[in-house]
Amino acid sequence: MTEQRYLPDADGVTEFEATASEVADDFLVLDGTYFYPEGGGQPADRGELAWDGGSATVTTVRKNHGDVRHYVEEIEGDRPEVGDAVEGRIDAERREAHRRMHTAQHVVSRVVLDEYGAETAGNQIHADRSRIDFEPADFSEADVAEIERLSNEAIERDLRVSKAERPREEVEERTEEGRALLNLIPDHVDPLRVVEIEGFDYCPCGGTHVDSLGDVGRVEITNRESKGEATERIEFVLRD
Ligand SMILES: [Zn+2]
Repeated sequence: MTEQRYLPDADGVTEFEATASEVADDFLVLDGTYFYPEGGGQPADRGELAWDGGSATVTTVRKNHGDVRHYVEEIEGDRPEVGDAVEGRIDAERREAHRRMHTAQHVVSRVVLDEYGAETAGNQIHADRSRIDFEPADFSEADVAEIERLSNEAIERDLRVSKAERPREEVEERTEEGRALLNLIPDHVDPLRVVEIEGFDYCPCGGTHVDSLGDVGRVEITNRESKGEATERIEFVLRD
């Protein structure tokens, strides 16, 4: 069992110490980690693990039941043993890019739900570009310009982004229809981690986010594409 230490609100931590709890050929499990395991449209963190007498590059991170597996390559020296202290260093630049992108995605999703009544059916975040699929939607070029304008207007207000664990009952009550696929989260998951943009958006989410909307930068929508009858895909990048 790995404690996911970035939850609920330590999204900015990129260096930490932990203890090895499983050592396999191609992965290490720690008792706790700040590495983000891929999921929810956000890629895994990358970085390094180091211990007394060795180190390795973390190429991807995945959840496996209650464990978080750090898949490693380029192992130098001997592998650690279970119980050894391990130092983790997350690629901080990449993590920061994912934080900005994921928060931008929440802003765009909220704007589109409010203005066009379309739900976010899927999203994929990358460090340099991201996309969101909306349903039901049929955007004109003018709509796309309006979505970009309203998203940047919200970001310029520099609203506080808070993350906290909330009782499931509250989350079910406060999450607006169409904002999150709550029924896909197993019933036993309670409390839920919520990302709240002050007075603007409330959404259950386990991803990494900035603490203040101003840190996102400026959203620039680079492409709009129809993906079937009532689905629209929007791609965006962030500018400083
Ligand atoms: Zn999210």
